Amino acid sequence: MKKKQEYIDSLRKLDMEVYLFGERVTNFVDHPIIRPSIECVAATYELADKPEYLDTMTARSHITGKTINRFCHIHRTTDDLVAKSKMERGLGAYTGSCFQRCVGMDALNALSIITYNIDQKHGTDYYKRFLKYLQYVQDEDLTCCGAMTDAKGDRSLRPAEQPDPDQYLHVVEERENGIIVRGNKLHQTGAISSHEIICMPTRAMREEDQDYAVSFALPSDTNGIIYVYGRQSCDTRKSEGGIIDTGNVLYSGQECMVIFDDVFVPWERVFMYKEYEFAADFVEKFAAYHRQSYACKSGIGDVLIGASQLVAEYQGTARASHIRTKITEMIHLNETMMCCSLACAHEGHQEPSGTYFVNTLWANVSKLNVTRFPYEISRLAQEIAGGSLVTMPSEKDLNNPRIGKFVSKYLQGVDGIKPEDRMRALRLIENITLGTGAVCYLTESLHGAGSPEAQKIMITRESNLDRMKNAARRLSGINP
Ligand code: SF4
Ligand code: FE
Repeated sequence: MKKKQEYIDSLRKLDMEVYLFGERVTNFVDHPIIRPSIECVAATYELADKPEYLDTMTARSHITGKTINRFCHIHRTTDDLVAKSKMERGLGAYTGSCFQRCVGMDALNALSIITYNIDQKHGTDYYKRFLKYLQYVQDEDLTCCGAMTDAKGDRSLRPAEQPDPDQYLHVVEERENGIIVRGNKLHQTGAISSHEIICMPTRAMREEDQDYAVSFALPSDTNGIIYVYGRQSCDTRKSEGGIIDTGNVLYSGQECMVIFDDVFVPWERVFMYKEYEFAADFVEKFAAYHRQSYACKSGIGDVLIGASQLVAEYQGTARASHIRTKITEMIHLNETMMCCSLACAHEGHQEPSGTYFVNTLWANVSKLNVTRFPYEISRLAQEIAGGSLVTMPSEKDLNNPRIGKFVSKYLQGVDGIKPEDRMRALRLIENITLGTGAVCYLTESLHGAGSPEAQKIMITRESNLDRMKNAARRLSGINP
């Protein structure tokens, strides 16, 4: 397995075409706005290297028998699925941010199911190709970026009906040695923190959409792939030279617009090619795995609850009964999200390829809770924090020779607590509920792995209303 520093050094070797604020960024690894997001992925290597986390962070490869990072593993038991949820919560609490690597793990696991199923129907050899690719990923301990969401253009039109055919990623040319693809993937978590990008179809497809039913993996610095770094609320605080105002002084998340400007994919890297009837199942498998992955939000919730409790203690409100009730309410919501992620893992089952897959109903219940609870936890955190959360002077004011002493004096709370520490805890709450951290904790909780309506459709489909009606009929004496 790679060490943390080896991972960071390996990114330096990638010749990616990256843009930020309208300019090409050559040394993206050391860019002050980008680096904290790379540190965040690096934490997945760092913790896998610590003996106390080996059970959670590593697994045994079912291909080679070697110990590998769990992010490269194919789940072989429900214990694997449970360890995945616990790993994600742990990393969420360690980083207070999106550590990005789950999208690749979820893409690999979805591929391990779908490539096998396509082969059973069409006599193709995608699964063999996939296993060869997987072994490469495991041996090199690579970070993969699972890319599903296309731009989609006019949402009322199907892929093949779009006036601009590139609104969904598609095949534009077939060659003897591979294919040429064009289009985009949006909201791409961890795109430039990754060694590989794995593309998947974004929705159910019909026969006329078959050029869009394509899945493949490419090295992230393949010629023709362009990355436009997404900006985040308060992102430039990271380049102001200070540290306190960033809130999370160590880590952040990362999303990019990824453009495929006529990119060549060799056949050995193609895992689905025009088998449009498998697109819907592909999306459902990836989405359910990723909905489970949102155990990460309970980890970030741990950080937010901790910061809220600290602020209450620093401000002298911690013993007020309404503050204690609010903290308890936050914990209840936070643990409810975690319970659902664990439940869908415990109730997982084996697919024909041997891969273990989560319980779809509970994965969707889990994610629907995640679209709501972080907002309520954030509201409670802001209520506990008070108005200083958004009106407090900056770190530079604290350090100004003329006004610093006043800023410090009037931000003093409980005697013996440094005003600077109160500022730090407040800035962390600001980061998670309003700043760069809110990208992951709030809006991504809403739309990542599918928006709430997608989960409602799945919950309706996966639940058994007839069984419930029968239970009601029996107890009320209604004859069927
Ligand atoms: Fe992983 Fe959570 Fe980030 Fe998604 S939002 S990649 S599940 S840390
Ligand atoms: Fe996500």
